[in-house]
Amino acid sequence: MHQSVFDEFKTSHHKEMALLEKLALDMRWSWNHEADTIWRQIDPSLWRMTKNPWMVLQRVSVERLAYVFSQPHFLAQLDEINQRREEAQSKISWFKQVHPDSALKRVAYFSMEFMLDEALPIYVGGLGNVAGDQLKAASELGVPVTGVGLFYQQGYFRQEIDRHGNQLVRQPYNEPGQMPVSPLRNANGEWLRVPVRFGGFTIWLKCWVVIAGRVRLYLLDSNDPANLPVHRTITNEIYSGGPEHRIKQELILGVGGWRMLQALGEIPEVCHLNEGHAAFLVLERANWYKETYGVSFWEALELTRPGNVFTTHTAVPAGFDRFDRSLITHYLGDYAEKELHISADSLMNLGKLNPGDSSELFNMAFLAIRGSGGINGVSKLHGEVSRALFSPLFPRWPLAEVPIGHVTNGVHMASWDGKFSDRLWTEACGKDRWRGDLETVSSNLAKVPSVDLWNMRNEARAHLVNFARRHMANQYRLSGQEQLACDAEKMFSKDALTLGFARRFVAYKRSSLLLMKRERLAALLRNTDRPVQLMLAGKAGPGDQVGLSFIRQWMDFINEYGLHHRIAFLSDYDMAVAKQLVRGVDVWLNTPKRPWEASGTSGMKVLVNGGLNLSTLDGWWAEAYESRFGWALGDQENHEQDPYWDEKEAEELISLLENQVVPSFYERNAAGVPERWTEKIRHSMAELTPRFSANRAVREYTEAYYIPAASRYVERALQNGERSEAFLQDRFKLIADWGNIRFGGQVWIAEANQVEVSLEVWLGDMNPDWIEFQLFADPSGQFGSEIHEFGLTHYEAKTENTHYGIRIDTPRPREHYSIRMLPKLAGLNCPLELPLIRWWE
Ligand SMILES: *Cc1c(COP(=O)(O)O)cnc(C)c1O
Repeated sequence: MHQSVFDEFKTSHHKEMALLEKLALDMRWSWNHEADTIWRQIDPSLWRMTKNPWMVLQRVSVERLAYVFSQPHFLAQLDEINQRREEAQSKISWFKQVHPDSALKRVAYFSMEFMLDEALPIYVGGLGNVAGDQLKAASELGVPVTGVGLFYQQGYFRQEIDRHGNQLVRQPYNEPGQMPVSPLRNANGEWLRVPVRFGGFTIWLKCWVVIAGRVRLYLLDSNDPANLPVHRTITNEIYSGGPEHRIKQELILGVGGWRMLQALGEIPEVCHLNEGHAAFLVLERANWYKETYGVSFWEALELTRPGNVFTTHTAVPAGFDRFDRSLITHYLGDYAEKELHISADSLMNLGKLNPGDSSELFNMAFLAIRGSGGINGVSKLHGEVSRALFSPLFPRWPLAEVPIGHVTNGVHMASWDGKFSDRLWTEACGKDRWRGDLETVSSNLAKVPSVDLWNMRNEARAHLVNFARRHMANQYRLSGQEQLACDAEKMFSKDALTLGFARRFVAYKRSSLLLMKRERLAALLRNTDRPVQLMLAGKAGPGDQVGLSFIRQWMDFINEYGLHHRIAFLSDYDMAVAKQLVRGVDVWLNTPKRPWEASGTSGMKVLVNGGLNLSTLDGWWAEAYESRFGWALGDQENHEQDPYWDEKEAEELISLLENQVVPSFYERNAAGVPERWTEKIRHSMAELTPRFSANRAVREYTEAYYIPAASRYVERALQNGERSEAFLQDRFKLIADWGNIRFGGQVWIAEANQVEVSLEVWLGDMNPDWIEFQLFADPSGQFGSEIHEFGLTHYEAKTENTHYGIRIDTPRPREHYSIRMLPKLAGLNCPLELPLIRWWE
């Protein structure tokens, strides 16, 4: 009866309702605020609480809708906003403009988590942040990316902090009907469901779609009544349970994810694996190719791998997902034998360093590497760290040539800027500033007068203080501390230097480093002439005793020193809390143990808002830091083994605060502006914001990874069946003939500034076009590394010796050089796809 009232109303206001639904389901609202006024008019209080347009639309009454629809200005606004949205969608994008004829038509981006907005809580932290921000930037740049992930109805836990500093775990159920997701339907209009078989059962996966501007995010959900109850809960929570739960989720992401794309007929040229979690995808992609083109699994893997791009986010071996043999056999044994037609052992070997070693676990990152045509770390330093971590897969290759590059992460600035910084940027650089190539952004922002920068900072800080007061009043009331709750409206000052520290509380982030200097910290916080305040937030993994103890240590510190008015631990760190903090703080602190922080992204979020960074020289800050931008801890070296290093960095941190940060914040000119400080803001905002934006990162992925991957994949796997057959045969023959090559004599003539070498080699059956000889020198002293190719000087027949020669001008002594032989087959990506190398001793 009531439903029918609503349905009738919807029918009679079909046009307006359709517009509202379209707007509410496009998560572009998480970074574009044009339509906020619409939702505010429909339900001001629900809008303020949730910032979720879809929820507002689900809850609204017919009377209220009838009322707003009767307002001509509302209807006019709705029309105009929709028009602007459509214009933005159809505007020619960076990708179309710069790469109009690219082979790249579709990238599928696989990730266990996506952080798009707090209204869709399917994320934990950094990894989801990278995925979500890159989808948004892809939308604005017009890069044809589709996300693939899991739909967790309980997401990640919500955090409560009790009066003793204990973390309490809350797990509210998120009703899909109130989240901005819709059923993903196939061409027949059916709700798409895809099957995955493991452990002897078929699991049906329901598919959902999220719209974010020009991109789509598809989500898989095992909560389908056709499944057994145990299987319905597989996708309940993110990263919950042990390895057995994890392997099921990863099979759903990789195998189910590919099948979903296949069922939709949306086969991508490029699959991007965000971390090793998604690596089972390479198996299913090859399986699809094998079935479609009638080749073997191994051939299919070689033909499809150029189309896979793998981004590793881990800086230490312990960070990789590993599964033991029994799990692989149980969950993938049948899949290997009945579907891929390979043995479970050979599948197991794809995840091992040493295929013969029965004690080795199955490493998802190794599978990802063996199935990808391009690999990258997430900062310059992390690229180096990853080359060292994965070098055992490339035996005898110099570290510098381990085929792992880097694309430093960036954040989606339009999602993280606040209203005050947005206003300032819009005046300096226009509304479309993050949609193009960013060329003029720096120079325009650099012209903003100091006093404007400073006013913006004061407004933003005041806004944060208001938020923190409301948040802490609730939090203290919840934990039964009524007096503190009442006092919360007076806590913090709108003018005081505000430090922020928020992140996951795990050991390597050393969240309690500052507490090693508690007396001096307390003195800073108590100072009334030059007041300093500190806002903290972060969740600890429910079983992580170290992380949990960090939270308690901070709460003990606050209680013991009675510093409630100057320092607060804000509960339930999520995207909403993060936004408030990064918009308002003056200084963002970060203290990871180098080199554990692969990149870090939260510090990038303060850039656009004029916050400054004080951080360990790790991850992104190791490549960004210069003294004109902020402050640094450490010396660009790793000191993991040094038991005194934490103490040393704690001392450095507190001294920096005492001697540099606080004095320069409070040093004011006649107009009350701290000029040394605003100069830093100007440099940091103007120069670092574009460099560490997701816009830059996505353009880099597109040009350095996606487009080359698409071309190589199309070239190898799609263009011409005969050619791919020839490629496979050549590759096979190259490997067979490689071992039969015999090195004969070498003659060196070293004169002043010249080295001349000739070689005699017996090639056997090897095609001379498929190998090359190189004169190689490592970097040494003032000299860089050198690679020179030998020329073929004499080749007659297979039975004869072949001669190679080279002459180079060089000031280096002969001892610097060595001779090596490499494969060089057209289209083969060495050493990634074939890590053969022979050094001629
Ligand atoms: C940005 C963000 C992160 C990632 O921060 P790090 O710099 O990697 O510590 C984690 N959680 C939330 C809620 C965030 O917004």
